[in-house]
Amino acid sequence: MSVFVEQRNKNLFLILMTTSLVLMMVLTTLLWWFISPRLHEINHTFALVILTLLRIFYLTVVVGIILILLTSYVERNFLITNRAVRITIRFLFPITIVLGRLIGIPKDRIRESYVSVNNTFTKVVKKSYDPKEVLILLPHCLQFTECQYRITIDINNCRECGKCTIVDLKKLSEKYGVKIAIATGGTLARRIIIQNRPKFIIAVACERDLVDGLQDVFPIPVYGVLNERPFGPCVNTAVAVDIIEKALKEVLKPELLPKE
Ligand code: SF4
Repeated sequence: MSVFVEQRNKNLFLILMTTSLVLMMVLTTLLWWFISPRLHEINHTFALVILTLLRIFYLTVVVGIILILLTSYVERNFLITNRAVRITIRFLFPITIVLGRLIGIPKDRIRESYVSVNNTFTKVVKKSYDPKEVLILLPHCLQFTECQYRITIDINNCRECGKCTIVDLKKLSEKYGVKIAIATGGTLARRIIIQNRPKFIIAVACERDLVDGLQDVFPIPVYGVLNERPFGPCVNTAVAVDIIEKALKEVLKPELLPKE
């Protein structure tokens, strides 16, 4: 898959994540330096167990970050251990947000950068899928607010009036034969994923929901597309349908693509 991913977008998250790790290692070392004499006094074995666990944890995170950096910059698949990558992101992501806040970088810029890093992960796997294995997952806010049709139950309830992008996305799913669903929140999104058991997801959402969703469904590969919000958050949002179509063309088995 070679959907376009901007390198400069990725740098922000990668730099903040690496800095966060260095800071956490320094802080943990200082903390250990202060409390270890006391721990050794209480129980020498207990102190050694804690030290060993800390070493294993940080070794895992260091391995995870090296794999993430190599995969992001070299754009080859170095993700040999999903577990280390997952632990690293789970541990460091909240710290990058705090660090970003301290130096005045908005959360959403960091989240957007993380989505770019994540999209690189899907790009380097270079795997093709059957249309039945692919799910397009959309947020409810794409629907025109005054539309009365209940597309969250079934997108086929859309009457194709053209007042929102749902009609284009519905046609796209029909053209490529992929599943499509609309979620009103994280719980429904998780249920949709459990029911459909996709092997690849193209997810549209705002920065916050996308980041939460990516972490929830890991290691299922998710290509994240940020929605556009010309009327503010959660109201009459839109999405660049051509980006989703491009992703579909890249990820579906070439022999199963519709004839143009
Ligand atoms: S395109 Fe479909 S979902 Fe959008 S407003 Fe029209 S009928 Fe409703």
